Amino acid sequence: MAKGWNLEHSYAGLPKLFYSLQNPVPVRAPEIAVLNLPLAEELGLDADALLGGEGAQVLAGNRLPPGAKPLAQAYAGHQFGYFTVLGDGRAILLGEQVAPRGERYDIQLKGAGRTPYSRGGDGRAALGPMLREYIVSEAMHALGIPTTRSLAVVLTGEAVIREDLLPGAVLVRVAKSHIRVGTFEYAAQSGSAQDLRALADYAIRRHFPELSGRKDRYLLMLRGVIRRQAELIARWQLVGFVHGVMNTDNMAISGETIDYGPCAFLDVYDPAAVFSSIDREGRYAYENQPGIAQWNLARFAETLLPLLDEDREKAVSLAQEAVTGFAKLYRAFWLSGMREKLGLFNEEPGDEALANELLSLMHRHAADYTNTFLALTFGNAKEGALFESSAFQSWEKKWRQRLQRQEEGEEQVRDRMKNANPAVIPRNHRVEEALKAAGQGSFSKLSQLMGALAKPYAHLPEQRAFAAPPPPSTEKYVTFCGT
Ligand code: AMP
Ligand code: MG
Repeated sequence: MAKGWNLEHSYAGLPKLFYSLQNPVPVRAPEIAVLNLPLAEELGLDADALLGGEGAQVLAGNRLPPGAKPLAQAYAGHQFGYFTVLGDGRAILLGEQVAPRGERYDIQLKGAGRTPYSRGGDGRAALGPMLREYIVSEAMHALGIPTTRSLAVVLTGEAVIREDLLPGAVLVRVAKSHIRVGTFEYAAQSGSAQDLRALADYAIRRHFPELSGRKDRYLLMLRGVIRRQAELIARWQLVGFVHGVMNTDNMAISGETIDYGPCAFLDVYDPAAVFSSIDREGRYAYENQPGIAQWNLARFAETLLPLLDEDREKAVSLAQEAVTGFAKLYRAFWLSGMREKLGLFNEEPGDEALANELLSLMHRHAADYTNTFLALTFGNAKEGALFESSAFQSWEKKWRQRLQRQEEGEEQVRDRMKNANPAVIPRNHRVEEALKAAGQGSFSKLSQLMGALAKPYAHLPEQRAFAAPPPPSTEKYVTFCGT
């Protein structure tokens, strides 16, 4: 097992239509920009070897690790509501690293060159967007939200041509798998009944192994995916995360957040917040995320119809029932998370209204989402329009009375709130600042930011500087896909 690499290739055992064997295209002068040492260790990789000169060669795709069998995955997807055939146009799967504790992780190089699915694209990625994915995915992980992770960003020593010439980079992405809703759409559209079944059984083996061999396993997988997505989207909403491009090819069957393109976190609480430059109609606005997830899951369920029941009508009714169930699951996950954010241990019927009233006051007074909950947690820093409003003061009275109607004392309430309300999120202006410095060759801002984001529930004094909202600006924050 050289340098800790322990690669397997279960995905390559799928029928041929699901992938194309494809080596990464070598780059001129690979140099590590950031390397995630704790993650390397979790994966069982030898950190010293990765940090050496050969490490950059391997992580950029110039040299293959032992046992690699590189391939690009085929998939389709609904992009902004329209069906398209896609595939990894700039990503190469090296294989699945079986970690010391037995878990299996896809090791994927994003920006590794052209593939049969590249269409007009150059197969490459720019440093800024790859670092952005690194920062935000690792921040999400630290927040306790299921996500793909980032092992490294490697500079290629080549420029990529976008509107400007930009430094090129490769991101090493680590995922429980890259099977997407769009992979199933591809199977249903382009494959045979056996191909679809092979994919479904494969996804079950990887993500729901306890269902293997059961007759009703496809329906149970559908319900399992719906449940995981309901929880995931609830977690996004609870931290104010806007994914930005919830196309079905960007929804993972594993339940991990995937594809950090134009994502952003809310500063001011605004349910209609949209940051992505291409989302002109606000399809993927903050408040639309649960509904869009359900729409995507309906596309997933449709692909499974032939597997759910021989009788088409019966299959449709099973699928519908499962997809409809999303709304209730989502609401339950969200409400339970909100109770934690508000320090509530028991349940009362009025809790949802209490939470919603606070949110609508935050909206009306343009309050910062994260910091409002922090102020409630610590009972301090109550400045600003929200806290000065009489509507808030009467809300607060109601909340305090509600806290009295449970057994737990003040200290327990505060501990619960500290564990549910992060001290820091990757604020857009801080991320931009770190990316700008990195683009000029200085990575110290980035590592300071990563340090502050590493333990969001620790509430450390050194995190305070990163907790401040952006200075007031007349310009709206806009994100780009970075493709
Ligand atoms: P995304 O919007 O990142 O989910 O990507 C949508 C599709 O475009 C995927 O099939 C990508 O592989 C492909 N793609 C994005 N950027 C490039 C690029 N520079 N070269 C080739 N394909 C790309
Ligand atoms: Mg994508």
